[in-house]
Amino acid sequence: MAAKDEATLLAGVPTGLLVGGTWREATGGRRFDVLDPATGAVLTTVADATPEDGLAALDAAAGAQEEWAATAPRKRGEILRTAWQLIQDRKDDLALLMTLEMGKPLAEAAGEVTYGSEFFRWFAEEAVRISGRYGINPEGTGRTIVSQHPVGPCYFITPWNFPLAMATRKIGPALAAGCTVVVKPAELTPLTTLLTAAILQEAGLPAGVLNVVPTTSAGALTEPILADRRLRKLSFTGSTPVGKRLIAQAAENVLRTSMELGGNAPFVVFDDADLDAAVTGAMLAKFRNVGEACTAANRFIVHEAVADEFVSRLTEKVSAMTVGRGTDDGVQVGPLINAAAVAKADELVQDAIGRGADVRLGGGPVDGPGTFYAPTVLDRVDAGSDILRTEIFGPVVSVVRFTEEAEAVRIANDTEFGLVSYVFTRDLARGQRMIERLQTGMMGLNVGVISNASAPFGGVKQSGIGREGGFEGIHEYLDTKYTMTPSPFP
Ligand code: ADP
Repeated sequence: MAAKDEATLLAGVPTGLLVGGTWREATGGRRFDVLDPATGAVLTTVADATPEDGLAALDAAAGAQEEWAATAPRKRGEILRTAWQLIQDRKDDLALLMTLEMGKPLAEAAGEVTYGSEFFRWFAEEAVRISGRYGINPEGTGRTIVSQHPVGPCYFITPWNFPLAMATRKIGPALAAGCTVVVKPAELTPLTTLLTAAILQEAGLPAGVLNVVPTTSAGALTEPILADRRLRKLSFTGSTPVGKRLIAQAAENVLRTSMELGGNAPFVVFDDADLDAAVTGAMLAKFRNVGEACTAANRFIVHEAVADEFVSRLTEKVSAMTVGRGTDDGVQVGPLINAAAVAKADELVQDAIGRGADVRLGGGPVDGPGTFYAPTVLDRVDAGSDILRTEIFGPVVSVVRFTEEAEAVRIANDTEFGLVSYVFTRDLARGQRMIERLQTGMMGLNVGVISNASAPFGGVKQSGIGREGGFEGIHEYLDTKYTMTPSPFP
């Protein structure tokens, strides 16, 4: 179905709180603006949940928990599967909505609809495969039954960079497992989550199973929810500092937590790499989502023997990219999410330049309106530069060079993060050594995009705890129970 025009689309998106199956205003009636980062214009306003509203949402989730857990897995799966179908039917609407509130080019937003909705289809299929086991103890005197049970009410905090996928990959497995949910979407991009919630309602999700509370007071709303003993699980995707604070708060009630935090992905190109594949992979790993992804290649670590050619080819491709509003034809680089993101990217770039980096392209913000940053390529970045330690979250390539494999490994691992690593080599044994040596939760071996609903997404070190997607994803929402029984034989 073709996308509606912007005004008609926005008029059809719910802008209230969803609590207990009812759309309503926030207590006190406050609303906040949602902006188009390409123009700075106000798209619409959304109800601004108070801490009281957050607790009302938890009441609803806790109230719906028992019945939802007792709902047949097939039924839970079918609701998710129906929601997946409804999203396909409204694919263009969801893509346009994401581009409007987040800024990414429309083609990429359409890609996110496919990727993000797949978590509903994947977990619709997993809902009916929750299993356990029956065993015999070594002494032969007892029988052990291991069963899986929904964790209970969950609280989700999602970021703005993938407004659909970051919500669906938490909501999908939680609902499949039989958990009820309160979601607090990012205040910069609440609309996609609100529309997705409406679609789940249309798919037949019972009242209270999913509750949505957008707010400008994330900390104040979150604190009492985490302190409430009815909550059983917190799943967060966002920055490492906020994640650390939430882990500390979650400790009080010993909540189960899933944390998808920051990254600092190395992109290693060996001298035996297929350079065509490496450049194609680099474009995807760096420029997908305007560089605003925790999986974005942050440090290009390139063998000296191929570095000149790799950088030249990459620079040529980057210089041909079209910057503009994500809704315009042919645009490949949209705006950054806000002025603070532009300032942060520029601070990192200027620090690197100040330390002697070779500017091959770009190197600064684009004049307004909108919050755009020029696609930038920096070569020979000094090891002391902040850009090698900090997530750039923008369209900036930063290259360092190496000569020995061990040096590449040392540089790649020289970070407190460990989300994803990209490696380009034609040597199978070297590829296998990288799998064993790189401190990373995920790896792209000769490929620049790794995200897939069927795979366990997640990090090691300070990049997080837990996995989303894959067979592993649903286990984040299940508790294991073990029962001992005597042997049935005398
Ligand atoms: P970013 O810098 O990419 O916006 P954040 O970690 O600040 O990353 O934001 C990710 C999500 O975390 C958003 O939904 C935001 O509202 C939420 N958030 C930020 N601060 C807090 C907090 N103190 N408590 C709970 N949620 C928070």
